[in-house]
Amino acid sequence: MNFDLIEKLKDKDTVILTGIPSAPGYAIGKCLKYEKEKFEVYPSVVLDVNSELEDFQNAIEKSKKELRKIIDEAKKKIYDDKMVSIFEAQLMVLEDPQLIDAIKNEIIKNKHSADYSIHSEFSKYIEPLQKSNDISHKERAKDIEDIKLRIIRNLRKKRWESKLTQSRIIFAHELSAADALLFVRNEVLAYVAEGGSLTSHAALIARALNIPAVFGIENVLNKISSEDEVIVDGFHGLVIKNPGPKFIEYYRKKIIEYDKLKKDLSELINVESKTKDNVRVKLYANMDLLSEIPSLIAFGAEGIGLFRTENLFFDLGDFPSELEQTEIYSSLAEKLYPKILTIRTFDLGGDKINLMNYKEANPFLGWRGIRVLLDNKPILKNQLRAILKASIYKNVRVMIPMISSVDEIVMTKEVLEEVKNELSMEKVRFDENIPFGIMIEVPSIVCCLNEVAQLVDFVSVGTNDLTQYLLAVDRANQKVFKLYQQFHPSVFRTLKVILNDLKETKIEVSICGELASNFMAIPLLIGLGYRYLSVNEYLLLQIKKLILSLDASECENLANKVLNACTQDKIITIINEFMQKIEGIDYESL
Ligand code: PEP
Ligand code: MG
Repeated sequence: MNFDLIEKLKDKDTVILTGIPSAPGYAIGKCLKYEKEKFEVYPSVVLDVNSELEDFQNAIEKSKKELRKIIDEAKKKIYDDKMVSIFEAQLMVLEDPQLIDAIKNEIIKNKHSADYSIHSEFSKYIEPLQKSNDISHKERAKDIEDIKLRIIRNLRKKRWESKLTQSRIIFAHELSAADALLFVRNEVLAYVAEGGSLTSHAALIARALNIPAVFGIENVLNKISSEDEVIVDGFHGLVIKNPGPKFIEYYRKKIIEYDKLKKDLSELINVESKTKDNVRVKLYANMDLLSEIPSLIAFGAEGIGLFRTENLFFDLGDFPSELEQTEIYSSLAEKLYPKILTIRTFDLGGDKINLMNYKEANPFLGWRGIRVLLDNKPILKNQLRAILKASIYKNVRVMIPMISSVDEIVMTKEVLEEVKNELSMEKVRFDENIPFGIMIEVPSIVCCLNEVAQLVDFVSVGTNDLTQYLLAVDRANQKVFKLYQQFHPSVFRTLKVILNDLKETKIEVSICGELASNFMAIPLLIGLGYRYLSVNEYLLLQIKKLILSLDASECENLANKVLNACTQDKIITIINEFMQKIEGIDYESL
């Protein structure tokens, strides 16, 4: 969204809440607070054990029936087996004889009430998962907690309240995968929740069902009331309360435009992405989850510029084996051929998957990315083997995250050579010249690009991390979030240095951070000289439309002005002025 627009569109009582963009799309409507019953459980003793056992058995049967219905519903609405398996895994917990027997024993031996026995036995499963630093374990804990609540609700003979009598935007503390699926039977417009993230199961379901979602807004239920009028912008993670007529008008136009853009797909999909003065700008897409592949192809991405493989932990629910990885990478390479597939090795640690439940005071400055992999060679080797095995079509590239020194590149390449030798001995086919690249995310490596150029075939700038490390601001910390300035002069000056230092080489330099998907930054990136952008696939066609309306030489003038500006505010003013003059682009709609 363009910079001064928010101020212009706001009413005096408009409140803007920001969260994690978890499923794309826009919605305008009234809120409904969805507050699940808490079902407090206290230790209590029962007199009639047999009747308690019978009630428990009935609750289990009822819960199984509900889950089977949910699975049927999921199969009807979602064509991705992985997503359906979230619910199948829940049913398996209900059918687990060990768990069921443990609960029955608790009722028989200790004469504890059924609800207390359920609560205490389920806690033995849930608590270790909740305490884990691993996000996929936490997701699993939520799924199991959801089953526990389902059984207790059925034990107390309460109905599941999911009926919406009118179209509403659902606000919740936390949404389960089943909630996200079942509200769709009614007229749900969007989801907003305090808990959850891009990879939470509710977000996966929302994306599969095309329902916009914004998660991760602290205390959201205290910030709105049922029937409040709100706008949800699932692209940018915005929830706009009391938007007022100007905001509503703006978003009505956006909804129409987005629908039109989706319909006009075939028009823009095969149009080459280049500026009016014929400067080609290649548009790759970033891929977070396997389920994104159909939309990514449909939106006409020219390849995958970044595949965040650490997210396979969410897709598979566990550490992916070499065989699983080989199958996944090979099938992707085949589907994309001849377009390229850039596979980034696991970026573990930081705010992502925590491999060994390792706790540290400063995860962003700690055991992250390639540092973890070089300390765990078997994991790195397995992944490189799988990537190489998938490279027979010669459209696969391997990319390494969080490189901070030339030594790390050398050490990683040594492992790659070792793996290549092993595969040759095993007579396995692979691309001997598989392109090897690194992410530029740590400022220290920007100072060593001459040496880097001798070692790599391509680089991709991860502006999300590069910005946080340049500015020393943790992008996830609410206290200092305002200091995380995407348009800080240091970001663009660094981007210029990167291109300058690699100018005389044949190395492809792309950008795969969020900045490449930000309409306000695109003319500037082109003006700086960037010709490869890896973007959010849902925005790809809009980005292409913008590029088609730009003149690269004018973008260059813009970049020169920006490089002389010394504050974010000044840069924003310069960009705003530029954007308003682009012909064929409605500045107000950006
Ligand atoms: C980045 O840091 O800009 C990037 C693309 O990597 P990630 O967002 O996965 O950390
Ligand atoms: Mg990064």
